[in-house]
Amino acid sequence: MSRWVELADGVLARRYGELDLTVGLIIGDGACLVVDTRGDAVQGAELAAAVREVTSAPWQVAITHAHFDHCFGTAAFLPAAVWAHRRCARELAATGEQQRAQWQRYYTVQGQAPVAAALAVAPLVPPDHPVDGRTELSIGGRRVVLAHLGAGHTDHDLVVWLPDDATVFAGDLVEHGAPPDFGDAFPLAWPSTVDRLLALGAATLVPGHGDPVGAGFVRAQRDELAAVAALCHRMLDGEPARDLVCASPYPPDTTRTALARAATHDRADGHDRADGPSAQ
Ligand SMILES: [Zn+2]
Repeated sequence: MSRWVELADGVLARRYGELDLTVGLIIGDGACLVVDTRGDAVQGAELAAAVREVTSAPWQVAITHAHFDHCFGTAAFLPAAVWAHRRCARELAATGEQQRAQWQRYYTVQGQAPVAAALAVAPLVPPDHPVDGRTELSIGGRRVVLAHLGAGHTDHDLVVWLPDDATVFAGDLVEHGAPPDFGDAFPLAWPSTVDRLLALGAATLVPGHGDPVGAGFVRAQRDELAAVAALCHRMLDGEPARDLVCASPYPPDTTRTALARAATHDRADGHDRADGPSAQ
């Protein structure tokens, strides 16, 4: 299952049944920007063909973060400028093969041998246009801001903001239809990063998984993330994790992952990146 959803004139999201993934397409006058490229070269080629049904304009690519389902399809778009946060290329180099092995196992166990086989041979394409805090592009005359708002789902989440269309592609900083994924997250920093996302004032926020949502949904998710961060602080203050899990808005496994990440990756002394939030 896949379908385009028009968010504004020339601004589209494409929805997939596979992992409930959502990618984006921004079309300007004689240029376009693809937001995320799906999880392998076959999936990337499907997306590239779907883009070509909508526009023949030359494309650039923006990657929201280094998780395989958002960027292992990039080869299908080359040659192209590939934008991402500066740490994305490093993360892809460090974890790409590990992600490949982990998800090959997942798809094999799920009985999806063709997906596992495609993932096995998907080329890893390091983004070649790094973004530090904020970069503004003109995509065929349409203003597009690429911004890192701080740590959250990862330490290199990039949002794609269309200030003139009140729309932002948020990657996995926002998740609709499932709990947020804390596997590589910074649970203490995440709520403040979502505050900065909300401060952009977008009316439509496009998650990396699930349907596009409004600011009200994201505010509610921000409060849930803040509740998890509060539990993480209590754990860092010495409360046993097992006593905290039942107080979480999220399922036990999700909460345990968040607590473990807080213990090892973002202590109470903060995770404010020197190159951090800047999207004004
Ligand atoms: Zn992710």
